[in-house]
Amino acid sequence: MSSDGNIERREFLAGIGVAAAGLFAVGCGGGTKRQSACVSTTIADQDRLQRIKKHYVDMSTVADKNCLNCHFYTEGLRAGACGECSQFGGPVHPKGYCDDWKAKA
Ligand code: SF4
Repeated sequence: MSSDGNIERREFLAGIGVAAAGLFAVGCGGGTKRQSACVSTTIADQDRLQRIKKHYVDMSTVADKNCLNCHFYTEGLRAGACGECSQFGGPVHPKGYCDDWKAKA
């Protein structure tokens, strides 16, 4: 492989690293009322609006009701990680909550 090819390969790998860092930036922290721990810059405006309309929060204030025990929740890849909600796009916190909460069957 030529030196130009090596440079292209390094740039390609660096690009993958930046993309991976971006994915990990869709993190899941402790969850506070002030700031969402499960955030993504790629959430569509429509989904962002749904979150607001349904009063989604990262930390439920309703006893025994949270995303983890909600019918619409799909767990993240690792324990405590942000999961997904079938009601709207974007990551949601396992301790989160919204108006659409429904007990898991
Ligand atoms: S419907 Fe609400 S409570 Fe249920 S998983 Fe989605 S965001 Fe969480």
